[in-house]
Amino acid sequence: MRVLVVEDEAALRDTLKARLTDAGFTVDAAVDGNEGLFAGLEYPLDVAVVDLGLPGLAGLEVIRRLRAARKTYPILILTARDNWQDKVEGLQAGADDYVVKPFHFEEVLARLQALLRRAGGWASPQLRCGPVVLDTRAQAVQVHGAAVELTTFEYRILEHLMLRAGDVISKGELTERLYDQDFERDSNVIEVLVGRLRRKLDPQEQLHPIETLRGRGYRFALPRDAAQ
Ligand code: CA
Repeated sequence: MRVLVVEDEAALRDTLKARLTDAGFTVDAAVDGNEGLFAGLEYPLDVAVVDLGLPGLAGLEVIRRLRAARKTYPILILTARDNWQDKVEGLQAGADDYVVKPFHFEEVLARLQALLRRAGGWASPQLRCGPVVLDTRAQAVQVHGAAVELTTFEYRILEHLMLRAGDVISKGELTERLYDQDFERDSNVIEVLVGRLRRKLDPQEQLHPIETLRGRGYRFALPRDAAQ
């Protein structure tokens, strides 16, 4: 999942970037509103964290312009304590949720994960598709109740595919969301990782959880459990 962090306080921005990276996100960081707007318009994001008090362009204006440009990914705002007007204005501008400063990182992470789940149509943090269960909080995967050990990148690919189970995801989209802009993009890497993922999830080749659509991309093919 690729997240944009727009925060002018350097220490907070660095902390968010480091901890979100640890949590498996690809992170783009912007230091002010103008940089944030540019990144929000240009990068293939899954979600954004926007501080409301920004130099240059205000956070509210960044959000308004992103929404006016039809950017629909979820946006989490960071607001000052006890300023309920900020929260209301932020939500009215098009934000989806807020966290009040000072916050514990875990709260930001939980809210981001919830926003991403809901954007993918999932109600629970456990994504269940038949025998495959992915727990977005623990970043753990089980097949038929048995734990499957995945590398960070294998996990990220599976999470991305399962969050949008049933949708076709192009190789380009997977690459862009897994690596930041410095990484030399090579779709062969994605093919290798998907191949490894298939062998780990389905060593007997009975489930066929990940479908390849020639020239279009991949699709997580096992149906979501009805209870979801
Ligand atoms: Ca600020």
